[in-house]
Amino acid sequence: MLHDTVQIFMEANEFGIAIYNEKNRTIEYKYLIENNVKNNMHEVNFDNKASLAVKCLKENKIIVINDMHNEYLNYVDSLNYSTTNKENYELKSAIYCPLTIDNNLIGVITVQAFKKNSFKMLTVEMIKALSSYASIAINNAIKSMDLLIEVEQRRKVQLQLEETNNKLIYLSENDGLTGIPNRRKFDSIISNEWDRAKEKKSIISIIIFDIDCFKQYNDNYGHTDGDDCIIKISNVLRQTLMKKYFAARYGGDEFVIVLPDTTIEEAIIYGEDFRRIVEKLSIPHKFSIVKDCVTVTLGVSAIIPNNENTIIEFIRSADNALYNAKNMGKNQIIGFNY
Ligand code: GH3
Ligand code: MG
Repeated sequence: MLHDTVQIFMEANEFGIAIYNEKNRTIEYKYLIENNVKNNMHEVNFDNKASLAVKCLKENKIIVINDMHNEYLNYVDSLNYSTTNKENYELKSAIYCPLTIDNNLIGVITVQAFKKNSFKMLTVEMIKALSSYASIAINNAIKSMDLLIEVEQRRKVQLQLEETNNKLIYLSENDGLTGIPNRRKFDSIISNEWDRAKEKKSIISIIIFDIDCFKQYNDNYGHTDGDDCIIKISNVLRQTLMKKYFAARYGGDEFVIVLPDTTIEEAIIYGEDFRRIVEKLSIPHKFSIVKDCVTVTLGVSAIIPNNENTIIEFIRSADNALYNAKNMGKNQIIGFNY
């Protein structure tokens, strides 16, 4: 738009806008037209003593040259002076107008022409006036670009934080060996389900089960095989779990299942199925006093919670049922209706 405007009031063979890059200490030609042809972006070092653009911006002063050959020496070092002038391409008139806001350097606009004395007073004044608007517009554009970049960076950091946070939540709620929820998660689930059942006066069941003779398994097959056995059983648990149920590793070789809106009869049917499936896995256990494979024993309890009872008592009742089932010979399920 600036280029179009300049062309209305003078014949410019070259027009360029360079932006000052404080970090790199360069001025970068973002827009450069040479004899109606758009040129590649190039940059000039801000310490380049041979650059008229650098001189103009450093001194924050407009440079107007009407006869390049005779006047450039007034501004830059003759030995180093380099122009884009090539054969048949000699720019004789040139304006370099600084783009600044207060003392902030924004960049430089340059307008150049083949003919000598191309710039009238009016042209110079027009370019000066354009430059002050251009400074503000370019500054705003740079600021909003910087802002966009910052917003994007913040968004990325935010996403990373969320990801890390989710990982931490996962680690704090799940068991490292089996990947199923841990006791901490169970504590919060049972508390919620308890309150919900109490409010709705609905029944809730709980199953606690434990691997039979697991100490002997560990002692004879080794800790690694012991781990594998726990993983296999928790995988079966995950696969057989109904959507509304919740299972957690309670600790060691003990697991717990919360069964909302489930009667003790329904919980026993589910638990008995589960017991049979574990048995059918036929994980060899020569040292079990129950069978020649790994088995589990389950204790069940059900309750419609009210103010007379507590979660701790409820869990203990399932634990007692499990204890009784162990005493009755293991590899079975016993229910206790609270
Ligand atoms: P019961 O039939 O009465 O349940 O007897 P048990 O041997 O299964 O019970 P006990 O509580 O005496 O032993 C449980 C064993 O589980 C003890 C411990 O070495 C083992 N154990 C606990 N956590 C882990 C684990 O993460 N990995 C392995 N490999 N073993 C574990
Ligand atoms: Mg055990």
